[in-house]
Amino acid sequence: MIMNNQDTIAAIATAPGEAGLCIIRISGRAALDVADRVFLGSLPLSKSRSHTVHYGKIVDPSDHETIDEVLVTVMRAPRTFTCEDVVEISGHGGHRPGNRILGTLLKNGARLAEPGEFTKRAFLNGRLDLLQAEAVAELIRSRTDSGIRAGLRQLSGEFSQRVKRLRADILSLASLIEVGLDFTEEDIDEISYQHFGVLTIEIVSALDLLIDKAGHWRSLRDGVRIVIVGRPNVGKSSLLNRFVGDDRAIVDPMPGTTRDTIEVSFDCRGVPVSMVDTAGIRPAGGGVESKGIDRTLLELESADLYIWVVDGSEQLQVSDTAVWRFLDPTRTICVINKSDMPVQFESAILSDIGVEVFTRISALNGNGCEAILDLLYERLTGNTDLSLSEALVNVRHMDCLRRARVGMCGVRDGLRDGLSQDIVAHEVKGVLGVLDELLGTNIGDDLLDQIFSSFCIGK
Ligand code: GDP
Repeated sequence: MIMNNQDTIAAIATAPGEAGLCIIRISGRAALDVADRVFLGSLPLSKSRSHTVHYGKIVDPSDHETIDEVLVTVMRAPRTFTCEDVVEISGHGGHRPGNRILGTLLKNGARLAEPGEFTKRAFLNGRLDLLQAEAVAELIRSRTDSGIRAGLRQLSGEFSQRVKRLRADILSLASLIEVGLDFTEEDIDEISYQHFGVLTIEIVSALDLLIDKAGHWRSLRDGVRIVIVGRPNVGKSSLLNRFVGDDRAIVDPMPGTTRDTIEVSFDCRGVPVSMVDTAGIRPAGGGVESKGIDRTLLELESADLYIWVVDGSEQLQVSDTAVWRFLDPTRTICVINKSDMPVQFESAILSDIGVEVFTRISALNGNGCEAILDLLYERLTGNTDLSLSEALVNVRHMDCLRRARVGMCGVRDGLRDGLSQDIVAHEVKGVLGVLDELLGTNIGDDLLDQIFSSFCIGK
């Protein structure tokens, strides 16, 4: 359905459920008139100054019933989130009052806002560029402090500035090409050629840097899934309990205690981590346990990293290596547990079977457990200081950056191979188009709708 951007829209902006307050937001040309139809205060809102707060009641004009006692904030265009007239009604929280106020507004001239429609209007009215608008959604979804910091930075426009600077460099390259250098001529101007070459290589490296960091930013935003594996009784559940600080996973001296998978979430130095404790993999088990083993194999497929736990108070056993065979060595950290007991386990054997990263710990007394977090952080982020990341790159951004890079490589190769000016110029234009798509200055309505529909209602 095509939504009219001239409509006055309304939605509840706060989360549902019991709460102290509920905020209903109205935006659009008729925001003040619609609010006045239901608001009873000392003066009509349409007569009040911008950025003022008013006490009063929301009354249903059809039956004059008082719905709630409220504070109403009036914000006139253009100094508002949407650049339109905005009214925010703060009523009592809970399941009913907010919905009743919203229902009354909808009966009196407002239309229910689509998901993300307030932010979409902020974008369409030029208050935010697309990257900033997307940062709003990222901020809402952020699960860690560093995610919030990165979201705020993106909202402030740092990522946009970076992309715009890159675009400006490509634009100057495009205009240099436009002024006319015929690459097919024999007497190609050596200095110009070198200048173009250097400029293109610089742009490709800048794109490389952004793409390279994007993987780490993804960890920050989406979080990572880590699966703890190992034969029964090596201390997997004890280790999980160390990470989360309570007894979420059941610890028992009998092999096969953890019969199904248990998942916990925690913040690993700013990276949201989901850690899954699995049933031990071992050749024969009871009915329940073998179900758990099937789950383990499923978990292994979806994991970003594995922690393979072995018992350091024993020699490496066949059932240990049986587990190891299921793992991808590049994604595995080996933890040699029970370092509080006499060491039997020869770590030298690990390099023989292809294990690169290992550490000794005691899940019982906590020794070495912090070092696991260091190892995980290093693996997940390449030790980039995520708090300094200026953007949260999503799939759309990544796709644009990759396409821009492919295009720039084409330009670089075209220059090197002496392709005609037209072809190179066309390639450069294509890259500019991709960056405009990234910034949202050249983007189809369908794609825009798709982006904003992932927002929550009221944002
Ligand atoms: P899982 O089957 O691999 O999940 O192993 P559990 O975490 O249930 O632990 C099995 C047994 O080993 C329990 O009795 C734990 O208390 C014990 N255990 C776990 N970690 C350690 C450790 O670091 N040192 C010692 N001495 N015992 C441990």
